[in-house]
Amino acid sequence: MTTTAADDALARAAAAGVHCLPIPTPFQVGRVNTYLIDDDPLTLVDSGPNSGTALDALERALAAHGRRVEDLGLIVISHQHIDHLGLVSILARRSGAEVAALDLLAPWVGDWSAAMNADDAFAERMMAEHGIPEDVRHALVGVSQSYRGWGAAATVTRPLADGAELRLRDRTLRVHHRPGHSPSDTIFHDEERRIVLGADHLIKHISSNPLISRPLTPASVQAADGGGGGGERAERPHALEIYMASLRATRAMADVDIVLAGHGDPVTDHVALIDERFRLHARRAEKIRRLIASAGAGGSLTAYEMAQSLWGNVAVTQAYLTLSEVLGHVDLLVRDGQVVEQRDGGVARFAAAG
Ligand SMILES: [Zn+2]
Repeated sequence: MTTTAADDALARAAAAGVHCLPIPTPFQVGRVNTYLIDDDPLTLVDSGPNSGTALDALERALAAHGRRVEDLGLIVISHQHIDHLGLVSILARRSGAEVAALDLLAPWVGDWSAAMNADDAFAERMMAEHGIPEDVRHALVGVSQSYRGWGAAATVTRPLADGAELRLRDRTLRVHHRPGHSPSDTIFHDEERRIVLGADHLIKHISSNPLISRPLTPASVQAADGGGGGGERAERPHALEIYMASLRATRAMADVDIVLAGHGDPVTDHVALIDERFRLHARRAEKIRRLIASAGAGGSLTAYEMAQSLWGNVAVTQAYLTLSEVLGHVDLLVRDGQVVEQRDGGVARFAAAG
């Protein structure tokens, strides 16, 4: 039998009391990794979606470690996506566990339905502004609403500040806010054991772009937009730039051997993987720069037109994903002075600079 670096990393984490419990989800991403930390309090990082199948799988996984839901003393939320937080309220109610999450995320999950309504409204505005036709927009909002049942509100009893310490009996986890994949991504670093609980901040087999998401606070929009803002325009965070800044911060971290991911295998060389991501984004930005240049002098394209010319008439459910992908790289080109944004009525168009 041969062991891989991933097996070794999971074995080393388990020896340190951190056990990976994969939970099924109905989503394309497949299983979500939750982590049981054998410490005092007994801690679960993330929960799986709000479904009977997920709860059953989690109960069986806990039983394999001689534990029950009722034994949990602390539940930690890594970020706002429903495959990670859907079961939190049920688990907290049954166990009486405290719930810890980034302080900025606490009001968001506390009033989850309102947050989802606001997110849908934000996404619809964003799609209209970038040329996605009305029928596609309505279909996408319908898809989002059909997913609602896999999430749920939860009450955060221990809000965590960026940079704070989360202390358990035998270990200390340093809290780092690393927005990008979502606005609330939080990673937890055990500096002594050189292990990071990284959730979806860095996933080995997925290099998808950060989705453009409604910011957690109005202030963070202003920060992302440099305090400006243009009246009628919907404020849009530059998700890929934010994500790349977060990746740079993680790349600079010492005392890291293993990043335990929210999906798939652990990452055992985070610097090499992050460098690979940076090269990938540089290549994609160049591809989009050439596409915009192909519109010729005086020509311009909407983000939706670019997505169509790159991927054809993609499935409706992918339209927001591809819009985010295009805009993330367009933002890099605008920042570098290679592309300029123009407004045509309420719609944004992009043209080669100069
Ligand atoms: Zn996620």
